[in-house]
Amino acid sequence: MKEQKYICKICGQTVKPLPDGSCPVCGAPSEMLVPKPEHDEE
Ligand SMILES: [Zn+2]
Repeated sequence: MKEQKYICKICGQTVKPLPDGSCPVCGAPSEMLVPKPEHDEE
């Protein structure tokens, strides 16, 4: 099972959210993180 990762709309990084759901890079709240598609073309 793959771990779901998220893309932060604030800093643009692919991140694994912190336990509270926020971005570990810039601290954006969980609503700023969008699930990353499983099939990444890059
Ligand atoms: Zn961020």
